[in-house]
Amino acid sequence: MSNELSQAEILRYSRHLMIPEVGLEGQRKLKAAAVLVVGTGGLGSPVLLYLAAAGVGRIGVVDFDVVEDSNLQRQVIHGSGSIGQLKVESARQRMLDINPFIQVDIYNEVFTSENAMALSGPYDILVDASDNFPTRYLVNDVAVLTGKPDVYGSIFRFEGQASVFYAKRGPCYRCLFPEPPPPGMTPSCAEAGVFGVLPGTIGTLQATEVIKLILGAGEVMTGKLLLYDALDSTFQIVNLRKNPHCKICSPQPEITRLIDYENFCGVPANDHAEKPVPTEWEISPGEVAQKLRSGAQIELVDVREPVEQQVSQLPGARLIPYGELASRLDELDRQEDIVLFCRTGVRSGRALQTLLAAGFRKVKNLRGGINAWSDEVDPTVMKY
Ligand SMILES: [Zn+2]
Repeated sequence: MSNELSQAEILRYSRHLMIPEVGLEGQRKLKAAAVLVVGTGGLGSPVLLYLAAAGVGRIGVVDFDVVEDSNLQRQVIHGSGSIGQLKVESARQRMLDINPFIQVDIYNEVFTSENAMALSGPYDILVDASDNFPTRYLVNDVAVLTGKPDVYGSIFRFEGQASVFYAKRGPCYRCLFPEPPPPGMTPSCAEAGVFGVLPGTIGTLQATEVIKLILGAGEVMTGKLLLYDALDSTFQIVNLRKNPHCKICSPQPEITRLIDYENFCGVPANDHAEKPVPTEWEISPGEVAQKLRSGAQIELVDVREPVEQQVSQLPGARLIPYGELASRLDELDRQEDIVLFCRTGVRSGRALQTLLAAGFRKVKNLRGGINAWSDEVDPTVMKY
């Protein structure tokens, strides 16, 4: 693709051409640039929308899922009309609608150690718009090993972070966080909830950093970690230093090639792959309903957050949020039949492990959670 701009492109980018930090030369740089964005979710949406609008000439998009209704509260690149469509395809259509002068390459795959090098090969900048630790470490390591910047963003409830990890000029993600947090300490977005506008703020900051990197304009967030608290309306900048003993970006690195990230982090790289509960510890909603009807004594334990009870409840259930379970085990009777439930069965699957480890044996996990109860037993219970 030629980096010369046509009359139509010049008109489109006229507001860029009028500012000295961009200008015609900068706009050509944007056209010549190639950026790979890993994730088309809450963070990926604004990144992709703004990179497309800004005229970044080649944008790669990696994701593996389809658009679901529950995505649309924050994943603003997708629309109601694309529910059920591949996320990468939905994203490409929206990006080309915004800007037909760019090239969008889509990869409907999980970003893994096997494909990461090949997928990132053609691109100059990597954007981590993922929502899980295996992908976050993988993007970092690919960036360090190939000498490219990793434009990082992450969110949790009302707090967000952003930085540019560029090992040639500053620290990498592993300088800051050598090891992932222990599994179970970090609930996935599906379980923890997300304040929908937050990834919009953080993803927009990531897009800004990408564009500055391409233009060579301003001061990029290398060696700085930006912390944003949406509830307090505060931004904080923390200065970061390169760790001289970093496992991957120090002069004598321990890691010289990609590793097994799911194993390293102890968690899967996507929500759907959470380790299933062995079937002998599961019980279907229909079976529980039948037992209750026949007068069986069953202690239903709801391990969701109290706020979730505003949406749906099961009659007679006792509420013990998963986070409090370990310290409230004495409230439960080991002799009684216990059925644990949450929204979809993931948190209660973890709660089951907690009870089994504490010696409980008469305990089961409600398969599919209260949402499955709505499908199989009582449709008046709201699904969410
Ligand atoms: Zn490092």
